[in-house]
Parts: sequence; structure tokens; C-alpha cells
Amino acid sequence: MMNKQIIRERLVAHGAKLFKSPREFIRFTKDNDANKLLNNIEEHPHAFILACVMDRQIKAERAWLIPYRFQEKLGDFSIETLLTQSQEDIHKLMAEPKSLHRFVDKMAGFFFLAVQRIDGNYGGNASLIWKDTPSSATVVYRFLEFDGVGPKIASMAANILAREFKIPFADYFSIDISADIHVRRVFGRLGLTPLDATVEQLIFRARALHPEFPGMMDYPAWEIGRNWCKSRKPYCSNCYMNDMCPNATYERKNSGQPAASPDTRSRGTLENS
Ligand code: SF4
Repeated sequence: MMNKQIIRERLVAHGAKLFKSPREFIRFTKDNDANKLLNNIEEHPHAFILACVMDRQIKAERAWLIPYRFQEKLGDFSIETLLTQSQEDIHKLMAEPKSLHRFVDKMAGFFFLAVQRIDGNYGGNASLIWKDTPSSATVVYRFLEFDGVGPKIASMAANILAREFKIPFADYFSIDISADIHVRRVFGRLGLTPLDATVEQLIFRARALHPEFPGMMDYPAWEIGRNWCKSRKPYCSNCYMNDMCPNATYERKNSGQPAASPDTRSRGTLENS
């Protein structure tokens, strides 16, 4: 088997193993109370959606804290309470005393509209977006219907629901790889894409490699990037791809590698590249 095929098989196998593993608490942010709110998709499914809506043009960590900051100010994060807030109220919650987002005006509008959509389209129960085993395309499309959500976030949201929250979908064809900085670097070094591949090249490469579930390779590639395939100096001797990776051959010939401890942090959200 060609090296690239073996690399693909390993990424898919590792991704499948993680995909089938039991649900665990996701560390979206460094704040445990914020994470508790985001993990509680049974009682507060809208918290996850509103965090996705906020996840643009700032660090993901900061965006995913926004629902919890609202909860702190309002006393609870029920959809009923959110619906009592006018657009002006939401703007105030977002802007004062400290801006929760870099683009407060725009994002307060998106937040308000998202709450209205959850009420109008789903009767206030956001989990209807992923209930009853929908196709992955349906879930991605429903996220795209929210103002401010683009394909990258919609695919990421579907991926987190399927992979981390273990929500069953009828298929996984439309869940793309998340082209963050680690995934792009690892795909390039493994020789699966050019080192300077565009986001589109990476997405379509992943689709070609594993059309049934392109996002399946997302977590394994991210994990390799986070733990061993560092941008300045990859620790190839600890990486399980080192016998196949074209760049590891170079590293083995030219330097020794220090031991690295695996980072076991959850990959709940996109890391901004
Ligand atoms: S073997 Fe080295 S260069 Fe290749 S993916 Fe692993 S850490 Fe990166």
C-alpha cells in the first residue's frame, strides 16, 4: 500500500475509534461553569447554538464564553428568559460593562435573531435541529439558516454534535474537516496536501479521502498537530505517523527529538488559525 493510503487508513481508524468512544465532558473554554452550560444540551441546547453563532472574528475561547456571561447577568439561560430581552437589551448585555465581542453591534443582532429563530422555527426547543436522526446535510443547512453562520461554523457544529455529543445522524457525508491551523499543517507535512494548501483544497482533499465522513479525520489530525507536529519543531519520534510521514524521514536524519507529553484537552471548538 502506498504511504498516503496507509496514512489515510490510520487517520480514519483513529477518528473512528474516537467517534465510537463514550461521550465525555467537553472543555470548550477554560471556565468550568461555562463548559457546564455548553455541555448541557439536554436542558439548554440553545446555549450550544448561540455559542456557534458568536464564533466569528474573535478567538473561539472568547466567543464560547458569551452564553455563560449572559447567564451570569440574567440569572438563568432559559429560552423563556432570553425571549424577554429586546434587541436593545441584548446589545446592552453584549456591550456593558465590557464588550463580550469585538463586533458588538453586529453580533448582538445575530444573537437576538438566533433566539427569535429558535422560538419561531423550533418552538423554543433548539434540540429539534438534530432530533430524529436527520441527515448531516439537514443539520448543516439548519445551522446555515442562522444569520451570521457560514459553512465553516455550520460544519464544525454538526461535527461536534456527531463526534462529541454522540448525536446520531442518518449519514455523515456533509460533515467536513475543520481547516484549523493544526489540521492544515499536519495534512501538509503528511503529504496529503501541499504545505501551502488553501482551506478549499484541504476540505476537498478530505472529501476525496473519506467521502462517507470527511470530518472523521479532523480530530486525529488536530491531535497530531497539537501534541507532536509543532509548527517550529515536530516531535516526530513520538508521532504514530513517523514511519510513513515524508517530513519525519527528514527529521530522523537531521535531529533527535525531545519527548513530548500528549495534550489531552478536548477539541470542542475551532482554534482560530
Ligand atoms: S511524523 Fe513528524 S512531521 Fe510527520 S506528522 Fe508526525 S510530527 Fe508531523
